[in-house]
Amino acid sequence: MRFINDRFKGMSFGGLYEIFAKATELEKTGKKLVHMEIGRPDFISPQIAIEESKKALDQGHVHYTPVQGIPELRQAIVDKEKRRHGLDYSAEDEIVVTAGACEALASVFFTILEDGDEVIGLGPYFTAYYEQSLICNFKFVEMQLKIEDGWKLDLEELRGLITPRTKAILINSPNNPAGYILSQEELEYIADLAKEHDLMVISDDCYDEFVYEGQAPSIAKIEGMRERTLVVKSTSKSFSMTGWRVAYVMAPSIYIKYINKVHQNLSTCATSFAQYGASYAFNEADEFIDDMVGEFKKRGDFIYQELSKIERLDLVKPQGAFYLFPKITKFGMSEEDFCDYILEEAGVVGVPGSNFGKSGAGHIRLAYCRTMEELEMAAENLKIALDKLE
Ligand code: PLP
Repeated sequence: MRFINDRFKGMSFGGLYEIFAKATELEKTGKKLVHMEIGRPDFISPQIAIEESKKALDQGHVHYTPVQGIPELRQAIVDKEKRRHGLDYSAEDEIVVTAGACEALASVFFTILEDGDEVIGLGPYFTAYYEQSLICNFKFVEMQLKIEDGWKLDLEELRGLITPRTKAILINSPNNPAGYILSQEELEYIADLAKEHDLMVISDDCYDEFVYEGQAPSIAKIEGMRERTLVVKSTSKSFSMTGWRVAYVMAPSIYIKYINKVHQNLSTCATSFAQYGASYAFNEADEFIDDMVGEFKKRGDFIYQELSKIERLDLVKPQGAFYLFPKITKFGMSEEDFCDYILEEAGVVGVPGSNFGKSGAGHIRLAYCRTMEELEMAAENLKIALDKLE
């Protein structure tokens, strides 16, 4: 351990992987499971992207690309952002394509933060935020949202967390794992705070397409915020392309210039043929997104309705993303015991909520990106299994 960075001692190696290992063992015995621990769409990536990516390989696109991403992909992204989200960025110098949103986030953190700077993030949160704070050496300050408040932001509490070391507020809306969407009013409050205290906002919008009513408002569109917002998005969820590792940051050119430099030193560029294929997804797969999200709406409505019938499970209907994040404390069990119990009794694999920060304690995450048949089985089995508990 002498040569392991001290900060890494705060990292957890269990959580999702532990539960996944248990599930795999159980499956070997022939038990049928519904894998609700996996946070990725079960759709195959858009066919056009697959075909064009294969063509790109045949055409010899097997070398480094421009660090910032190939021009046709950058153009296709900014066109889609304008068309679907009303965001206006320049393909030339306001975007950088990265190897996934995780690399995008790391590049952003490395670029804007000094050692010991503080970033306020809203919990529950995507696990990588905290782990990247250990890697990039900043302090991740969790602002705890609560299911009892319907995951609404306590505006004064947020203000109270700002210190002279605070550099940025990190938001993720639609949210993994809680499924809420920050309202225009909440975003405006965050924007006011950012302007008042001269803070950046990192807006992780990886679930931007998974919105079940209307649109998710964007903080970058609020007056005076474009210049202090770094938007992170990915093909992973929007196009069900998790394995392609293509994502991007959009921001004013002064930030992109340096983020691109960090990205150059982390991965050089996103995979060449994946970029070629992805550019077709951005140009031609709107219908794919709409169909997938339509299907996810049906699934989400169904599983929410069914699990709401279980009295002791506290649930808030997700407005976006594809997770349920029920509170399970009324069952008098730890999250781990609860996950073990539903795994063995109901064949449902879930993730203990503490993996998503302090505000996740007492919750479990169930990803509903499974087929309707699987969700029907999960709902039925969960009702029976949880009914048995005293
Ligand atoms: N941000 C959030 C909120 C996520 O849930 C995920 C993946 O689950 C990511 C970022 C990372 O996405 P990518 O696959 O592009 O690295």
